[in-house]
Amino acid sequence: MEIYYVLDASAFINGFKLISKNNFTVPEITAEIKDFKSKLYFDSVLEDGTLIIKDVSSEYINCVNDIISESGDILRLSLVDKKLISLAYMFNEEGKEVKVISDDYTIQNSLRIMGIPYSGVMTEGIKGIYNWKKICQGCKREYGEDYPFEDCEVCGSRLFKKRIKVDKLGLVLLFMVQTLSIPDML
Ligand SMILES: [Zn+2]
Repeated sequence: MEIYYVLDASAFINGFKLISKNNFTVPEITAEIKDFKSKLYFDSVLEDGTLIIKDVSSEYINCVNDIISESGDILRLSLVDKKLISLAYMFNEEGKEVKVISDDYTIQNSLRIMGIPYSGVMTEGIKGIYNWKKICQGCKREYGEDYPFEDCEVCGSRLFKKRIKVDKLGLVLLFMVQTLSIPDML
């Protein structure tokens, strides 16, 4: 069965690359993606139809509220977070195989309570983002491999691709940064 991916803002901000056709998010996410690079990618996948914005009815939001109301996490979930979880819940109720992509610990915890599969980006993203970078031939500005253009956004020169080595220590450090940042969200 094809997996229905539900993505939150952190998925885009942390560089998740869409790998299948069925990718969904809620309308409010648009306002949460502010940095230039993530916004470019978000807009491009929206435009080519790989990402679909879907609203979710209050019926499902109420169900989600009921299910997770006994956990302390409900207080930390924003309305956008709840809508995102509700969208995943809706797909789940419709019998679809769903997976939420989010690095938000509170969202992950709520999904765990509800028995809905999820995955963070940071560990998967290491493969996709840090293996390559694009460097401007003119001003030497660096871009991630997911930067969709071949020209520099600042000076207009052509970019060239450069492979970056991610060694084991680098992976461990990235993992530590990710792990250590979790208490800040609590
Ligand atoms: Zn440049």
